Amino acid sequence: NHRIVLASRPKGAPTPDNFRLETETLPAPGAGEVLLKTLYLSLDPYMRGRMNDGPSYAPPVGLGETMVGGTVSRVEQSNHPDFAPGDLVLSFSGWQAYALSNGEGLTRLDPALTRPSLALGVLGMPGFTAYMGLLDIGNPKPGETVVVAAASGAVGSVVGQVAKLKGARVVGIAGGADKVRYVVDELGFDACVDHRSPSFEADLAAATPDGIDVYYENVGGKVFDAVLPRLNVGARVPVCGLISHYNAESLPPGPDRTSLLLGTLLTKSIRMQGFIIWHDYGHRYQEFFDAMAPWVTSGQVKFREDVVDGLANAPAALIGLLEGKNFGKVVVRIAD
Ligand code: NDP
Repeated sequence: NHRIVLASRPKGAPTPDNFRLETETLPAPGAGEVLLKTLYLSLDPYMRGRMNDGPSYAPPVGLGETMVGGTVSRVEQSNHPDFAPGDLVLSFSGWQAYALSNGEGLTRLDPALTRPSLALGVLGMPGFTAYMGLLDIGNPKPGETVVVAAASGAVGSVVGQVAKLKGARVVGIAGGADKVRYVVDELGFDACVDHRSPSFEADLAAATPDGIDVYYENVGGKVFDAVLPRLNVGARVPVCGLISHYNAESLPPGPDRTSLLLGTLLTKSIRMQGFIIWHDYGHRYQEFFDAMAPWVTSGQVKFREDVVDGLANAPAALIGLLEGKNFGKVVVRIAD
């Protein structure tokens, strides 16, 4: 078996030497266990947080432990009554080629899923996150303006497309001309602005002439600074992620803008709400899947995967994800 463990904790941006590839003999399943072969590993921004020591909503990965992660896996051997060899399951096997499981937390994949990796993307955790944060917290009304950053990515692409289906005017924010073009031409957003452009603030203002009613927060930092003054009275801000801060060692330098933020929330009656998808909405996964699967099948919701080949390339891909080098949902193909 091959696995990638956390070798050391990053200071700032992770580097390749924070990870170590290890080889061990293939484990044999005991009574009630299955042996799983990993086909696809999902790479997601939250993994950066797990590399830190310290309190969070989930415990950190220990030094020398296998990096955590969602996987699409195939049952190779089974001593479990509910699983047979050949079954495809959604698992949390982590960064390894094989894993043992006692069946807890394994979900059999819908056989109708012709492309199993989608269970890690548009039909899995990121799509679910987009759907719930947008509809349950953002609650966009027809004609309102919805803005989302990391717009070409796993979560942002679904946020914008679902907001369009609900009749909103949708403006994306993305890094670089290729992503901006894709978000408008392929995903059908009404506009998209480049956060790396020197004219970003002015471009965002031009793209949101009626202000912003829903800002789906994925990044924080200077993107949020540009959004804040454009929020309308009664705006909703689902706080999903802050990826521009995940590598930060400390708070950014001043001036202290707390009063600007709180004053804006206060005077404009703005509601900001954070959420952790499985914790807050785990019980509503089926509702999401039943809505999303037909949209994906009919092409009303499009997706883009950034497929990385081989477990050994996972560290570089996670490092890249935190710098915006990915283009679409990052999945590592580990076996066929
Ligand atoms: P993406 O596929 O969108 O990939 C990350 C993207 O973030 C990059 O491609 C890049 O896009 C953007 N980015 C990276 N660094 C910066 C930066 N410094 N400034 C601005 N943009 C940056 O990732 P996901 O869709 O998987 O995740 C999106 C967000 O959703 C993350 O914040 C993640 O933590 C959060 N999330 C939260 C969950 C929850 O339960 N609350 C669950 C799942 C995800 P670009 O080049 O366009 O800027």
